[in-house]
Amino acid sequence: MTDATTIAELEASLPGRVSTSDEDLARYSRDQGPIEQVILPLAVVLARSVDDVRTLLKWATRHSVPIVCRGAGSGVSGGAHATTGSVVLSLELMTRIVEINPDDETAVVEPGVVNADLNAAAAPYGLMYAPDPASYRWSTIGGNVATNAGGLRCAKYGVTRDSVLALEVVLADGSLVSTGHRTFKGVAGYDLTALMTGSEGTLGVIVGITVRLRYLPQAVHTLAAFFDDFTQAAAGVLAIGRARVQPAILELLDGRTLEALDGAHGSDLRNRGGSLLLVQTDGYGAAVEAEVIRRVLLDLGAGVSEEGSGEADRLIDLRRHSRGDEVDDLYRVGEDVAVPKSQLVRYVAALEAMALRHEVRLKVVAHAGDGNLHPTFWVERSEGERAQERLEEALDESVRCALDLGGTITGEHGVGQYKRRWLAWEQSPAVLELQSRIKQVFDPLNILNPGKAIIS
Ligand SMILES: Cc1cc2nc3c(=O)[nH]c(=O)nc-3n(C[C@H](O)[C@H](O)[C@H](O)COP(=O)(O)OP(=O)(O)OC[C@H]3O[C@@H](n4cnc5c(N)ncnc54)[C@H](O)[C@@H]3O)c2cc1C
Repeated sequence: MTDATTIAELEASLPGRVSTSDEDLARYSRDQGPIEQVILPLAVVLARSVDDVRTLLKWATRHSVPIVCRGAGSGVSGGAHATTGSVVLSLELMTRIVEINPDDETAVVEPGVVNADLNAAAAPYGLMYAPDPASYRWSTIGGNVATNAGGLRCAKYGVTRDSVLALEVVLADGSLVSTGHRTFKGVAGYDLTALMTGSEGTLGVIVGITVRLRYLPQAVHTLAAFFDDFTQAAAGVLAIGRARVQPAILELLDGRTLEALDGAHGSDLRNRGGSLLLVQTDGYGAAVEAEVIRRVLLDLGAGVSEEGSGEADRLIDLRRHSRGDEVDDLYRVGEDVAVPKSQLVRYVAALEAMALRHEVRLKVVAHAGDGNLHPTFWVERSEGERAQERLEEALDESVRCALDLGGTITGEHGVGQYKRRWLAWEQSPAVLELQSRIKQVFDPLNILNPGKAIIS
């Protein structure tokens, strides 16, 4: 039981770092996950150094207090939601870019560095940090690593794990370990860096990150391919793959997403077609690759235009906004399944049939180059409880269908709190047991983000 004395002890050991104000407790209680119940934490710690984190973890171990790490709180799976009796540890003030090494093509950063800020710092060296979640102007590298975030450019450059070389991690007892190496290669022992990447704050607190940088492309070509219907556009993804051309960005937006973007941003996308395949090639071969893709998509009946840099940036930016804002009178859940690329067309058709059958509204965007789809289902709150139940049934069916096609319950957002209900559909009891035992090794008292990411 954590009482006022225990919190007073924390305040005394971390002066100026602990807040228990109502405003902060509410602000740090949740992320963007579709979980309606809000639990206030006991306190929020705004760490400014590794020592602050170590002090907090030692205190937490002494008193068995759960710690919920938090970057920017942009997560959409409830991974950063406060749980009963927890203290939220915000890393957002640890924003130092410690080093950019242009010859090694690496950067070392603190966890609170915002993704876009690292890219801005790397650009003068002709380098970039490739993983770019649509939240890149807001989310932190620490949060990106903890969720193994994906993004638009991942079609070519891989997900966060493919760019993380080494980590500094504070363990549950407050000790500090370094994992990995500064070299691109390295196979000594088990790959704890890869294990930490995507561990959603359940194995340790990431306090330092060494990443691999990539070359900022000298040339970029962007194509907007409009199709009459969504399944045709999905077929375009496969056709590009069969032509053995590798776009840097390959995003798929359905008609309802185009309508929503037009409504929110005054664009005119829906008039141009029933769905959009947004393609970007980069590097010295960008023009040649774009031309091959243009011909492939024309053959499929698309209306294809090459966009100038201003319009291209606008389209990519619109895609990044396609999640939309929360609207109070809607009950809305965005999904994050992934299927093998060969199943994309079947899955897209199945989703549309599901929405009709369950009488729920649906819009879909996809990082299509990775087979990673974000269907969003919604109903009006005024439609009552039965409508919300229908939405839950549609969600369950969409996840089950993705698994049946060889996919996964989450391509990039993580399991968090929200998707634990589906984890046992994907993983066998033996695998769940192994994960739980790994958790026990790192966190024997179960104080690191308990109730998230795995079934323990
Ligand atoms: C509009 C929008 C667009 C998005 N687009 C994408 C996208 O394209 N691709 C994608 O992958 N995601 C996307 N996301 C989801 C989200 O932005 C990512 O999951 C992101 O990586 C979370 O970063 P964060 O700093 O906000 O972390 P938070 O949300 O604060 O935390 C996420 C998880 O990481 C843990 N955590 C955070 N920091 C640390 C740390 N230092 N050490 C240990 N654990 C930690 C938290 O406990 C939590 O479990 C989007 C979200 C929004 C709202």
